[in-house]
Amino acid sequence: MSESAGSPADADPTVVVDGVTKQYAAGTTVTALDDVSLSLPRGSYTAIMGPSGSGKSTLLNLVGGLDTPSAGRVTVDGHDVSAESEAERAAIRGTEIGFVFQTFNLMPRLTAVENVALPLVFDGWSREDRRRRARELLDDVGLADRVDHVPAELSGGQRQRVAIARALAPDPALILADEPTGNVDTDTGATILDIFDDLHAAGNTILLVTHERHVAERAERIVHVEDGNVRTIEAVGEATDG
Ligand code: ADP
Ligand code: MG
Repeated sequence: MSESAGSPADADPTVVVDGVTKQYAAGTTVTALDDVSLSLPRGSYTAIMGPSGSGKSTLLNLVGGLDTPSAGRVTVDGHDVSAESEAERAAIRGTEIGFVFQTFNLMPRLTAVENVALPLVFDGWSREDRRRRARELLDDVGLADRVDHVPAELSGGQRQRVAIARALAPDPALILADEPTGNVDTDTGATILDIFDDLHAAGNTILLVTHERHVAERAERIVHVEDGNVRTIEAVGEATDG
């Protein structure tokens, strides 16, 4: 990863993936990731791009502590998420990591403001403070007039914006997004990507998975994954910046 060598952020990366292999025993053994190493500088915006089945979601889920590697190590903000128990990983997920999924994963019976406030329940906030913060976050993503709507009363793009606000609620060290524009129309996708641009500009560390080139190009660099390996790491825009 020589393109980022020497930058001050390298001394304190938010994410370090070190020699990670993931195998699934499904009849025959599937090697979803094969000895992958990657480092995400604090405040960086990285896209993982590759064809279906190349290991993108597996890598994101390991970084997010949703799963554990067969070999190797993952640290997020200094926490070894690969070695912790399920309960400890859940605690790290709750405080350090904000997830945005292709399918939104909102609680269907809760309103927008309740969905966004939910992660804070586990973080010791008062009910009043939770609701205030949730309203602020919904305001930030342009949904101030939809706070009391349940997901079924919202469009796909509005649901995804609720999901982004929820991911941001605990002020996580890292934002992970798996095909966040995969289930919304093109215009809505552009709005979602604009929000990620704003989050990047505000200093957040973002790791986004996509199979679409135009989405990946919104990031600072593209990690190309193929057959469970990192093929190349591309710095976006470098060729045209002169
Ligand atoms: P991508 O997100 O790039 O489409 P995935 O990370 O989901 O790819 O999958 C990588 C490979 O691992 C695929 O061959 C997939 O079939 C396999 N795989 C993913 N999850 C599982 C699982 N839970 N059990 C068995 N195989 C899996
Ligand atoms: Mg996937």
